[in-house]
Amino acid sequence: MNRKKFFQNISFISALIQLQKIFSNPIKISSKKKSVLVIGAGISGLACANKLQQNGFDVLVLESDTKIGGRIKTDYSLGIAFDQGASWIHSPKENPITKLAKEAGIKTFLTVNDNVEIYNKKGNLYTENYIDTLTINYKNAQEEIIKNGDKNNSFEEVFKTLYPKKLEQPFWKFMLSADLEFDIGGDISEISSLYFQDDEVFEGEDVIITNGYGKLADYFAKGLNIKLNSPVSEIDYRSEKIITKTKNEIFESDFVVLTVPLGVLKKKIIQFSPNLPQEKIDIIQNLKMGNVNKFLLLWEKAFWDTSLQYIGITPDTKGKFNYFLNLKKFTEYNALMTFSFGKYAYISETLSNSEIIEEIMGHLKIIYGNKIPNPKNLLRTKWGENKNAFGCYSFPTNGTTSDDFDKLSKSVNNKIFFAGEHTSTKYRATVHGAYLSGLREAEKILNYI
Ligand SMILES: Cc1cc2nc3c(=O)[nH]c(=O)nc-3n(C[C@H](O)[C@H](O)[C@H](O)COP(=O)(O)OP(=O)(O)OC[C@H]3O[C@@H](n4cnc5c(N)ncnc54)[C@H](O)[C@@H]3O)c2cc1C
Repeated sequence: MNRKKFFQNISFISALIQLQKIFSNPIKISSKKKSVLVIGAGISGLACANKLQQNGFDVLVLESDTKIGGRIKTDYSLGIAFDQGASWIHSPKENPITKLAKEAGIKTFLTVNDNVEIYNKKGNLYTENYIDTLTINYKNAQEEIIKNGDKNNSFEEVFKTLYPKKLEQPFWKFMLSADLEFDIGGDISEISSLYFQDDEVFEGEDVIITNGYGKLADYFAKGLNIKLNSPVSEIDYRSEKIITKTKNEIFESDFVVLTVPLGVLKKKIIQFSPNLPQEKIDIIQNLKMGNVNKFLLLWEKAFWDTSLQYIGITPDTKGKFNYFLNLKKFTEYNALMTFSFGKYAYISETLSNSEIIEEIMGHLKIIYGNKIPNPKNLLRTKWGENKNAFGCYSFPTNGTTSDDFDKLSKSVNNKIFFAGEHTSTKYRATVHGAYLSGLREAEKILNYI
């Protein structure tokens, strides 16, 4: 055996001893106070951790990613704030995030949905009258679908029965994706025909965050003990103390608050001993995680009408780069953001950057002519394959019921508590829903002790 190999073996053995030590002695989060391990540093986890820490608990947050924020994350690599996940505060007047966002130094801009021009695939503008009429018909159709809906039929199935021809019409495809699939997250073939609108929305227009939603996560993270790069793989709650394992460490705590997204729960990345109650396992399997992707394109000069808020186009493929947000309206950047929705959100993840640019430019050239230049930069998301989320947000599908989201929030043995957007029927798929769910679980623990 040469020296180098011997040395390698020694370091291997000492690493093994070190690992053995780590695994045989769980890290106690606290020896004096009640301790809580919060899994996930998204807004629900951070809000929960904050509240418990303020109330005298010893709290540790374990986060699998290299950054905090989860589905609130801002990429500043091009200068402009590109929010990869959430962008809007929905109906800010009543929304609890509004006050917190101000405290976090967040700036906002009122987005007006009506400030839009929509073009057909030949580049002709739809008239205001046409858009207004179709919008009313679309709202009426949603009501009809709920009336004729069934627990085991998807939105699309009921829609096709009621309106056999409409799904072939480009403007309907536009509304069903840029509005419905964006809002709910899933493809219309999977969205429940009964429960797609049973969540609650506050009144009023939305505001978009102009300097990065990530600031909200940073604000909540101040003063918290957060361990990044720590994906949890096991939770053992057979004894009084809960044992939680990551790849290299073991933790011991009195309570665990689990805030990982529904997509992560569905993939069974975390093993539980004993298994979670069957009802919870079934709901996790049945509820769905949707997919929406965002694409930010940056140019030297704007070639579009910069007074517009939104630009729409109605291509043949549903959900394909059909809605553009004009960021020049509220930033100094010549930038547009577009989206992929429903089934096309998954297809877009298989395309290279140059293919994405070609497809998007194809749509913009229909509107603005062939001479417009390619963007100098593109930023994009792939939420479907993101291993910390496996999708954008949760939604009800065939066989699920309205209260399944609330049922997911039931704690197990008063030891494992569940927070996250997917645990709120009322406010699922939103930042405020996730935030309120974190406070709700902190409150439960405070009431329990
Ligand atoms: C594209 C997109 C657009 C959106 N737009 C809006 C919007 O405009 N307005 C709005 O209100 N909402 C919007 N949302 C929804 C909103 O972002 C989410 O509902 C909210 O941020 C979810 O917070 P959360 O704490 O429940 O989950 P997350 O933010 O996902 O936090 C969960 C955390 O758990 C971590 N984690 C995962 N697995 C493990 C593991 N094994 N161990 C440890 N940690 C783990 C994750 O990395 C993550 O940080 C959008 C979401 C997306 C994706």
